[in-house]
Amino acid sequence: MDKRAAFAKLRYYLHMLRKNSPTASRLAQFGESVFTRMSRLAAAHKAVNLGQGFPNFDGPDFVKNAGKAAIDAGFGQYARAFGLPELNQAIAARFHKDSGIEVNPETEITVTSGATEAIAAVMLGLVEPGEEVILVEPFYDSYPAAVSMAGGVVRPIRMHSPDFAFPIEELRKAVTPKTRLILINSPHNPTGRVLSDQELSQIAQVAIDNDCLVVSDEVYEHIYFERKHRSISTLPGMRERTIVLSSLGKTFSLTGWKVGWAIAPEQFTQAIRSAHQFLTFSTATPLQRAAVDALNAPEKYYTQLRSDYAQRRDAMLSMLRNAGFNPFIPEGSYFVLAKHEPFHVEAGALSADEAFCEYLVKTVGVAAIPCNAFYETASTHGLEERTSMIRFAFCKDLETIQEAGRRMKATLRATLPETLGFKMDM
Ligand code: PMP
Ligand code: GLN
Repeated sequence: MDKRAAFAKLRYYLHMLRKNSPTASRLAQFGESVFTRMSRLAAAHKAVNLGQGFPNFDGPDFVKNAGKAAIDAGFGQYARAFGLPELNQAIAARFHKDSGIEVNPETEITVTSGATEAIAAVMLGLVEPGEEVILVEPFYDSYPAAVSMAGGVVRPIRMHSPDFAFPIEELRKAVTPKTRLILINSPHNPTGRVLSDQELSQIAQVAIDNDCLVVSDEVYEHIYFERKHRSISTLPGMRERTIVLSSLGKTFSLTGWKVGWAIAPEQFTQAIRSAHQFLTFSTATPLQRAAVDALNAPEKYYTQLRSDYAQRRDAMLSMLRNAGFNPFIPEGSYFVLAKHEPFHVEAGALSADEAFCEYLVKTVGVAAIPCNAFYETASTHGLEERTSMIRFAFCKDLETIQEAGRRMKATLRATLPETLGFKMDM
């Protein structure tokens, strides 16, 4: 076959391949989000949904009423692309209260459609194709997809059970001249870790020594139980190299509102805004208006939020222990991890964590998240560890947590190997 015919054949095969699988390769590897899949299964099997992290209770009336009032008052057109001026001011004021740092609301804050859009805008605005982004496994699933959309390369490092300490040595080794960003998340989804001052200062030192930027995902900033959350941006030398991301969703139990923001020094803010203006241009105007009232909430709102979550965490931990799990104790966020190893479910073609979650949702009637979804898709490194855990969300009312417990106690026992001689408090 001559060269031209060979190329034509190759083109034909590529064409057929694209026809059968039209999703661009930068996204095809990620498939459907695990949260969408597990919520669908939960609905189909009428399961108690402890999978996707959304509260099953409503946000506060003072925020909802502010949203309704904003719609009635005519906040119905595009907002300024980088945020309603009064919202940028409220974010700056709240950030100052929490961190002691003064930021310029006009030049250092960008309002986005949830932190998810902020993550994408950071990657698209700052990462050149081929540059590396260090992600810490297990990680929120939108991080690697956003890196890939920007043409960047994920360099995974890993926190290991049982303590999920920050892998500082791995970080030191992973940083190269190609490193563009180090992305951290604290309080952490899914482990529940809240990074200590020592861990934060070690990370800061690596960033400073190597002149790297740090992206700090702080969406669970107000949900911590022991150690108070601290933003890495408050450490010496970090204000000028940190991009802080957060949103309204977790703090005000309004995940569907999708109001988020990125706080960054001016030049990085410009890069983020370059992407944001072409991703969504601006975020829903009445919700931005209502977000101002939310952020001006008195301190007692935040204290109450934490004490409610402490109660839900304790209920979840005792429910899981009672069902036969040995959960890792979260220091923050609204997630708890547990190994599925006390139980035995045939994996078949699935990974062990997926097989267990399928069993749990279909037979027991409880949805959880298989943690394999929080690791680099392209790698099978440390397969046993990455498929050993499942995640439960406790942003649910106490009755829901207890109902999950009743279902697990009634059914999970059947999967306990006799040899373990495991005793459950029935
Ligand atoms: N980061 C983490 C760690 C999360 O768990 C979430 C929750 N979905 C997000 C970012 C996204 O936040 P938002 O819903 O504001 O887009
Ligand atoms: N952050 C939520 C979780 O981890 C869900 C986000 C989503 O559904 N995309 O469960």
